[in-house]
Amino acid sequence: MGEEKRELYNSIVEAVRSCRACPLHRLRTNAVPGEGNLEAKVMFVGEAPGRSEDEQGRPFVGAAGQLLNELLLRAGLRRENVYITNVVKCRPPNNRTPTEEEVAACVGFLRQEIALVRPKVIVALGNTAGSTIMGLAGRQWRGVTAERGRKAKVTVEGVEVIVVPTYHPAAALYRPDLKELLADDIAEAAREASAQGTRRTLLDFMGG
Ligand code: SF4
Repeated sequence: MGEEKRELYNSIVEAVRSCRACPLHRLRTNAVPGEGNLEAKVMFVGEAPGRSEDEQGRPFVGAAGQLLNELLLRAGLRRENVYITNVVKCRPPNNRTPTEEEVAACVGFLRQEIALVRPKVIVALGNTAGSTIMGLAGRQWRGVTAERGRKAKVTVEGVEVIVVPTYHPAAALYRPDLKELLADDIAEAAREASAQGTRRTLLDFMGG
């Protein structure tokens, strides 16, 4: 199964790299597929690649990525044990918010990633991630300020997950107040994932 999963993941990566489904492909240096542990309990979803990500072809490797790494460690999570991706896989010009059309063109890849990894918890980093994931779950989204701190149990792509809506690390870079809220939310996601894992193990043990 591990081998099969890896092959499916590789096929998603190849499809992202060769995708031309929206105009953003014309501006990219590199498309940026998600990466990480395919057995991860926690998936982080951001908005779109920025300059460093576009240059390196990897998600969250710039300043916002450094902050995310720091907060993962604070929460007792290691980057190699989580899965990290974005709603949109190519960098929008000047890091503008992706349009609805760009999100609609790209969201199929995120859906495939969720179906593949089957996380217990999805941390939605910022407005675009929150609205997209809650949209996939058929739920309303009232903006990150209203939704932050209100985790929700939903089904996305047939996978039951807890969605933890929070701020994007880029927004928290120069705002210590947001950084602390983001840190709290990532710690909550870690606790939730570990509780879910324990419940599953107990159920397995009971033959459930
Ligand atoms: S942003 Fe997404 S849909 Fe648009 S070209 Fe890149 S991979 Fe394809």
